Amino acid sequence: MLYVGLDDTDSKLGMCTTYLAAVLAERLAKFGLVGFPRLIRFNPNIKYKTRGNAGLALALDAGPGAMDEVERIALAAVKEHARLEDENTNPGVVLYCGEITQELKDYALRVVRDVVEISEAEALAEKYGMRVHKFKIGRGIIGALGAICMDLYDHTYELLAYRMPENYEKPRQLDRSSVYAMDAATYPDTWDNVDLHNKVIVFSPHTPDPVLYGIRGNSPDVLLKAQRMLVTEPVERCQIFITNQGTDMHLLSVGSIVEAKDDRSYILKGKVTQAPHTIEGGHVFFEIGDKTGVLKCSAFEPTKNFREIVRKLVPGDEVKVYGSVKDRTVNLEKLEIVNLVPLTRTVSPVCPQCGRHMESAGAGQGYRCRKCKTKAPGQITQEIERDLKFGLYEVPPTARRHLAKQIIRIAEPWCAMHPSR
Ligand SMILES: [Zn+2]
Repeated sequence: MLYVGLDDTDSKLGMCTTYLAAVLAERLAKFGLVGFPRLIRFNPNIKYKTRGNAGLALALDAGPGAMDEVERIALAAVKEHARLEDENTNPGVVLYCGEITQELKDYALRVVRDVVEISEAEALAEKYGMRVHKFKIGRGIIGALGAICMDLYDHTYELLAYRMPENYEKPRQLDRSSVYAMDAATYPDTWDNVDLHNKVIVFSPHTPDPVLYGIRGNSPDVLLKAQRMLVTEPVERCQIFITNQGTDMHLLSVGSIVEAKDDRSYILKGKVTQAPHTIEGGHVFFEIGDKTGVLKCSAFEPTKNFREIVRKLVPGDEVKVYGSVKDRTVNLEKLEIVNLVPLTRTVSPVCPQCGRHMESAGAGQGYRCRKCKTKAPGQITQEIERDLKFGLYEVPPTARRHLAKQIIRIAEPWCAMHPSR
């Protein structure tokens, strides 16, 4: 098996590494593609990422003899399509003919969960005799190598459709009703096409890149079925990718809050120590804590209706938070409500005879019912019903991160599930 990996060819100004992989899939088809090209999302917190922080890889049914020609074709495609003029675009291309060892799989998982340096990728590639090409500083080799080596122990698929180049500058033409009909016909085998609650189409970007839309789902078949239902502008090409999107592969489970480090993503358990409050711009913050420390949690404005759940938390509630930590703050992707504290208020006692609230009989005199003359020593505590259900909640599709697992993908629910769509 001969692997080609690439990363960091795109820029905020345009292009998309997935497009380059789709072009390469066509140009390298004569060598025999094995499986679908791989679209691997990495640590979403890395500050040098271009846009989606993705690496791409293709597997070819070829041996070392094909290496030179594959290399020539891959490098020519990168030079042709990569946005090298952007200072943040630093492509990397890796070629490898050999076995994907446990050490290589472990490396790939670290690129998803941790912070990896260019030098580490380079040393590993050298150890395995890989061919490495760095353009400019070549940060892309980290993801190129990661995409080749990732063990997809869980995976989903995405069908990406690309625009005709002459339409790149024009608004995207998509028949809205066909998108909603496609979503209704294929959900939950496809997901995040539209956000029904917030009334937006989310499977089509607004950025100046060649992607017209991307349909995500469980199987290549359902993606093709979904695509046939769409009415859109002409498509230049489309490509199905196998991907780690929607798997929660980035989340680490650690025992305590003190272990959570910036730039990584976690599932953390704690009790609410500070009630949610909303700041200007609509961002909601609260704090959780355990024996080892406290951590701020946030539901930013783009998480829309998810914030309504967060705002109902009160100190003492037991929760699990899912998300990435940045500046000692968890950016929530999911929220699990494990236990709710009873909420009470004190009110004047109720008369056992007429059922009306009693009145104060004066300082230190207790309470009494003026009509029935019944008496009570003081105020009573009344429980207020919590307007919040146990279970797992998620941000709506419009705020979904690539790696975040959709609740509908959870095969064995351990608590009540509250999918958002
Ligand atoms: Zn009374």
